[in-house]
Amino acid sequence: MRDYFSVTLIFQSISAVLIGWLLLHFARLYQRTYLFYWSISFFCLTIYLITVYISNQFTTYNLDPSSPLRLINLFMLSLAGYLQIAFLMTGTITMVRGATISKKAFIRILIVCMLIAASVTLFKNWTEASSASNLRYLVRVGLRYLIAGIACIGTAIYILRNDSNPLLGKKLVTIGFFVYGFEMAFLGWLTLENYLFGESAVLMILAPYHGLFELLLYPIIATSLIVWLLEVERMRRQQSFEKLQNLNQTDGLTGLPSQSALHKHLQTWQQVAQPEDRLTLTLLGIDQMQRFNDAEGIKKGDEIIITLAKRLEFLCIGGFRFFGRLYGDVFVIISSGFGDEQLKKAKKIRHSFSRALKIKNNTYYLETSAGSTEVKPDMDIEITLHQASQALQLAKQSGGKQHQLYQPGLRLSLNTDLIFENELRAAFKREQFEIYYQPIWSSENTIACFEALIRWNHPKKGLLTPNAFLTLVQELGLMIELDYWVCQQAIKQIRSWQFINPTSAKVSVNFSAETVQNGHLVQFIENCLTTEKVHAENLTLEVTENTAMHNIESGQSTLTELKKLGVQVAIDDFGTGYSSLNYLKAFPSDVIKFDRSFVSDRKNQQINIEILKSLVPLCHRLDKKVVIEGIENKAQFETMQTLGINAFQGYYLSYPITAREAQKLLIMSKRSKNFKKRAH
Ligand code: C2E
Ligand code: MG
Ligand code: MG
Repeated sequence: MRDYFSVTLIFQSISAVLIGWLLLHFARLYQRTYLFYWSISFFCLTIYLITVYISNQFTTYNLDPSSPLRLINLFMLSLAGYLQIAFLMTGTITMVRGATISKKAFIRILIVCMLIAASVTLFKNWTEASSASNLRYLVRVGLRYLIAGIACIGTAIYILRNDSNPLLGKKLVTIGFFVYGFEMAFLGWLTLENYLFGESAVLMILAPYHGLFELLLYPIIATSLIVWLLEVERMRRQQSFEKLQNLNQTDGLTGLPSQSALHKHLQTWQQVAQPEDRLTLTLLGIDQMQRFNDAEGIKKGDEIIITLAKRLEFLCIGGFRFFGRLYGDVFVIISSGFGDEQLKKAKKIRHSFSRALKIKNNTYYLETSAGSTEVKPDMDIEITLHQASQALQLAKQSGGKQHQLYQPGLRLSLNTDLIFENELRAAFKREQFEIYYQPIWSSENTIACFEALIRWNHPKKGLLTPNAFLTLVQELGLMIELDYWVCQQAIKQIRSWQFINPTSAKVSVNFSAETVQNGHLVQFIENCLTTEKVHAENLTLEVTENTAMHNIESGQSTLTELKKLGVQVAIDDFGTGYSSLNYLKAFPSDVIKFDRSFVSDRKNQQINIEILKSLVPLCHRLDKKVVIEGIENKAQFETMQTLGINAFQGYYLSYPITAREAQKLLIMSKRSKNFKKRAH
């Protein structure tokens, strides 16, 4: 009989160690904590079985029951037996809950198991009488059976309670736990019965088969655990794949459909479209987004993109068959059909897209450009996108704030850009820039001031006006350099003109948003004024209303400081933005320059005059001077003169002229006090 027990124990140990090793292998492979727990559980079982075997050997060789060797072995046996159950349960609970147990809980389990093991060992040592053998058997073996049985049944119920429709592996594990639990609990109960009511016949019959039974059950439980693991891993992989696919279709930053969703949409359409079907694909891009990022930082840039995405969603939902984000600041919209109606819709979206953005407490004014192209069912998607992108580039390079439709010849004109870009970079070094001065006439017919306007003496193309190159200057990040240069030249000019005509030696300089927001502007201007010994009042700083400031708040402080210095501040192109009156309130300004559209827009002439009639007195009440730009003929000039405007600018009065010509004009105007004439 003893031999039979020993052989079973050896096989049980081999089986347990193999299963432990297998689980450890999977634990390493999948890096799952619960597998480690399970694997430790089977290693503990191995130790338990080996110690049981040793214990049997001790009995066979009649070793003194209270010898330290036997006691240590008993302690190890009990400890391993309880740890096996503890780790098996911990692993299962960890897997079901999806969270590992805390270190504190782990230590507690260990301490409890050690205490039980110590109690069992001490108990055996104290009750060495043969009368107590049934009690000792109960404490040493039966108690473990009972606890293990209850724990296994409890674990099985816990697994089922957390999942009403378990996977096959999980079902098998639950059944395994139930069977193992019942068998152990039953044996435990029989051991108790054996102690309470004397020798149990059933225990005598069943006990020899327990080892064999466990030998069969371990591989079944282990296989079930592995089936469960594989099923869970397969499900996880499936879920991550779906997530990945979803992620691929959705833009991470904005949550809008992504570039890959766009491709999918176009591919699906091409598969079902008739040869005569068409789509209009439009790209929307923010003018000078790069500049914005440089000035405000990538984080703020992202906030802008997210806010614009929400706006796009609001504008496009229901009205377009697709909208999403292509990359960076470029959004895409697609409408069914291709023609005037679709292009009108695209233009409208571009317009609405450009409205002021309020993010937290900041207001940003960003203009948008758009490029559209026709999509045919047989066209290559990459080519279509490239065409739309070229149209968008053209819109941006033509000054932004506009919509362009792709035309077949576009590619050629874009190819010349690189050369132009290099020429522009060289222009800075070769000093090809020149400042022209356009006089601004006061209502008393004297020269109130000159506006400094940049020109580029292009070696091949001749004299270029800012519209032809300023956008590129901005894109190349050279705007601040250019503005500083113009400002310095203008202050030098004021100095030389002061001796000729001190009252009219005033210059107004245009500044871009990034120059104003560049922290060094005030210091720079102050230094220039001091070096040239020019009074600050003779210099006016012009910021356009439309692109005046991306971020009103940071611009405000610079303008306030400049005003403190004595520099005049003018709001240029007033009346073209979306919140002109806001600007009037928000910016510390001395001069309001009404945009030339108030003069040139024939269709709304009467309305414009009415607006001026109410706004000019308003500006005066706010202690601001009013200038009107773009007077091109006598009739316009006469009308404007009736509105109480302080100063006038326009081709009718004078074109922008060179510094030399301006000097001549100053000399002449000094000679004749009531001088006024067109300078061309
Ligand atoms: P702006 O500041 O509004 O300057 C007035 C523009 O209107 C000038 O164009 C001027 O030549 C033009 N203009 C003047 N009178 C009339 C008229 O009667 N009819 C018409 N149709 N146009 C008239 P320009 O020189 O091409 O400058 C365009 C814009 O470029 C300027 O508009 C200004 O915003 C910007 N700019 C010019 N120079 C600089 C500069 O040095 N720095 C910066 N940042 N911007 C500049
Ligand atoms: Mg101006
Ligand atoms: Mg203007």
